[in-house]
Amino acid sequence: MVTQILDPNELIVTTSSRSAFRRCPLPQKWYWQYVMGYKEKNVADALFFGIGIHEALAEWYLLGRKRGPHPADTFAKWHGDEVREIRANYADRDSEYGIDEAKYENSLDLGISMLEGYIDEYGRDPDWSVIAIERPFKVRVIKDGKVIAYFMSTWDGVYRDRRDDRIYLMEHKTAAQIQLAYLELDDQGGIYWALAGSILRSEGVLKEGEEIAGITYNFLRKSVADERPRNAGGEYLNKNGTVSKKQPPDRYVRELVERSARERKTQMDRLADEVWLMKGMIEGTIPVTKNTTKECSFCPFFLSCKMHERGGNAYKSVLKADFTISNPFDRYLKSAA
Ligand code: SF4
Repeated sequence: MVTQILDPNELIVTTSSRSAFRRCPLPQKWYWQYVMGYKEKNVADALFFGIGIHEALAEWYLLGRKRGPHPADTFAKWHGDEVREIRANYADRDSEYGIDEAKYENSLDLGISMLEGYIDEYGRDPDWSVIAIERPFKVRVIKDGKVIAYFMSTWDGVYRDRRDDRIYLMEHKTAAQIQLAYLELDDQGGIYWALAGSILRSEGVLKEGEEIAGITYNFLRKSVADERPRNAGGEYLNKNGTVSKKQPPDRYVRELVERSARERKTQMDRLADEVWLMKGMIEGTIPVTKNTTKECSFCPFFLSCKMHERGGNAYKSVLKADFTISNPFDRYLKSAA
């Protein structure tokens, strides 16, 4: 019999489990993935690329105006280590579960190109004086005066901008297409922002009364460099020197979103409310329902979910065949130890 990995009395919430909870709200996918621990057999890590870019930027933005090794070099080293480990882990598996060599080769070139272009664009960010580097944190989630879970995650960094002498949270994002419209409602950066100020004040990094004014969303578009020549205005040119009709979207975008004191409470309340719902679903007092949409065909649980709809236990055989079981919070528990 398969038991729940997640203990409702020691409930852990992370940014990715929260995101899965919201994606299929009310959330069958979250339940299978984060409560039961089902992990796709043939997927090394869906977040592989983004993690590498974050690691590279984490080693770049050191305290103050110090900067570490070029992020493209850090990414290349990280990529090599990671692919070696994936190869070792997958070597004894059926070829069906082997790694896609071409995909990893392309991701290496893509990451290096993105990070070389990033440094060409922003240099050493001389106006950013970093006051807190990337690091994991763990905080209690409280509802009605009781601790109902622990929220564990990692923020990307906090810096003082020398141009306006205000403090901002940095939130690095990689995306195939950069979308800005939702950022004022973004809860991922929002909850980091809501927590970072009090954590840093309690550690004496921020003085009493010092606030983090907002979030700088630092987007890197997943794209390789466009090698065509450019004119003085930055427009790409055709071979004959005329301005090309095909101008790519910006590869790097920074968007500053200020947040108000009221939003801090909204963020904390929303996290506690979501955890309360999760806890009810794990304990069986709230039903685990599904959000069936046409996006379901992209869900790793699509087949098992269809079988589950038909009733009976056949869906369990599909889960057993296509998934392994592991603790999805292992990485966080290790970094918090
Ligand atoms: S297939 Fe759709 S309804 Fe089923 S778990 Fe996935 S997202 Fe939810």
